[in-house]
Amino acid sequence: MAKSSLNLATEPQTSVANLFPFLDLPLQFEGIRYEVMEAVTRTLRNQHFILGPEVEKLEAEIAAYVGCRFAVACASGSDALLLALMALGVGAGDEVITTPFTFVATAGSIARLGAKPVFADIDPDTYNLDPKKLEGVISDKTRAILPVHLYGLPAMMDPIFEVARAHGIAVIEDAAQALGAEYSGIKVGNIGTIGCFSFFPSKNLGGAGDGGMLTTNDPSLAERLRLLRVHGCRRKYRSEILGINSRLDALQAAILRVKLDYLEIWTGQRRHNAERYCLLFQDFGLDEQVICPAEPAGMRHVYNQFVIHVSARDELQQHLRHLGIPTEIYYPEPLHLQPAFAYLGYEVGNLPQAESASNHVLALPIYPELTRDQQMAVVCAIAQFYEGNPASFEQEG
Ligand SMILES: *Cc1c(COP(=O)(O)O)cnc(C)c1O
Repeated sequence: MAKSSLNLATEPQTSVANLFPFLDLPLQFEGIRYEVMEAVTRTLRNQHFILGPEVEKLEAEIAAYVGCRFAVACASGSDALLLALMALGVGAGDEVITTPFTFVATAGSIARLGAKPVFADIDPDTYNLDPKKLEGVISDKTRAILPVHLYGLPAMMDPIFEVARAHGIAVIEDAAQALGAEYSGIKVGNIGTIGCFSFFPSKNLGGAGDGGMLTTNDPSLAERLRLLRVHGCRRKYRSEILGINSRLDALQAAILRVKLDYLEIWTGQRRHNAERYCLLFQDFGLDEQVICPAEPAGMRHVYNQFVIHVSARDELQQHLRHLGIPTEIYYPEPLHLQPAFAYLGYEVGNLPQAESASNHVLALPIYPELTRDQQMAVVCAIAQFYEGNPASFEQEG
């Protein structure tokens, strides 16, 4: 390949149409269209739109899939986090420890209740909360630890639990990206006090809009969550406790029930694609430049995102954009440095692993229907970048 074609500095900054999408939901829909339309029609005929039998069936099916006793549906993953904290009575004056390297909802839910998010740094190999960083930030105000199973990889739950147990505090799992992921053979959402899931369309089980689910083995917590999502009303117009309106639509439940039947197949395809990326990177001699996601022993990664660690990340992304290869960055800025959390007083350098990760991570397309040729195009384009920039890796070490 001519080297001049690799020199981005001299090329015009034109935008190129993507060769294929980052996530192909229309393609997924074509494969299940008949079943989805049947479920939608059934719900429309029924005209029972909020909670009701479809939602109850989905709750039972998710509980069975996760292996826990109770599942309580709500309006979004963000609300699931909020409701979980509300159910535990977290509020003003309390502290909850979480990761700064996550979607804003994780820490936002804590702050929304008037409690204080306390960030602990991440483990650079897994991007998940580093259990060794927990003791240092625990105080007598700490009420819970809120680990995230980022990208679909379970957090280090055993060491997190050790700390939680020693201090008598709860563990809430942000499993929004990780339905189906396993830790020591146990599905996430069935490990902590409460598990929180999202059915946002880009999650591994995505609805036709917003949706969320809570899981627990504690009957009184399940009961409390059911009350909290309907303004605390067990019977009409009588509020027992102060809640919110966060209910799942029957249409969403009906569609999600269709898709849940495919989740294991889709997860298998995501895992297959992940393995193939790693083999291709090896074949292309890119093991030095491209660090593939870790899957520690005993864990099952479900690859909601396939995130590589690279140097010269922004230049690589620009190069790929030029060649029509779609990528994303999750997340470009850790939460402790975002304006919404400035009041907490964190500064650059406080959580160096999260800050470093935000400069080096790059998510590649990993959706189940992704083909070998498409993956080959991604890997070739990355190889081309490093051929043209042999020094870029060494520069940053
Ligand atoms: C998607 C997501 C959420 C929020 O879910 P919504 O359904 O979009 O509100 C929370 N935490 C993490 C880690 C997520 O990825």
